[in-house]
Amino acid sequence: MALPSTYADRNCSLARALEIVGERWTLLIVRDAFYGVRRFGDFATQLGIPRAVLAGRLKALVQEGVFSRDDAGAGGVEYRLTDKGIALWPVVRSLMSWGDAFYSPAGVKRALRHDRDGGLLDDEGRCEQCGSVIPVPETRIEPGPGFEPSGSDPDRVSAMFNAPRRLLEPLTIPRG
Ligand SMILES: [Zn+2]
Repeated sequence: MALPSTYADRNCSLARALEIVGERWTLLIVRDAFYGVRRFGDFATQLGIPRAVLAGRLKALVQEGVFSRDDAGAGGVEYRLTDKGIALWPVVRSLMSWGDAFYSPAGVKRALRHDRDGGLLDDEGRCEQCGSVIPVPETRIEPGPGFEPSGSDPDRVSAMFNAPRRLLEPLTIPRG
């Protein structure tokens, strides 16, 4: 792994984890993958990230086994979260929740629900309707009360994941 080891504490697994996902953009790329983004161009469009930076991040995430690269995907080359990558979901969910609690006075930006019964999920991912802890693929994400629609036309990728959708369900965006 090419990332420099810049953290002093060799006995801290948080420091080790941050060597993988602590760089700028990385968790946002991971978030987009949970939202169903798989193609390089779609990550680039949604994030507005320089393509060289995106290429470097994706390469590092593949090397670490957070993403797998599939050269024969339905949309050409696809990047998908592995089980190791999906195991980052509680991290993403917790940081979203922290951001909502302290920086979103109007309420959550995005609500998480159990897709089958519509129950809201609590901070541990437990459904208020059925009481189960809901696996990632059965989780629906949708705009919440704090969600602020963009004034101008959103790009196609953003428009798709500003509508309710199940996590990991691949975005299908017509090319062109
Ligand atoms: Zn439920």
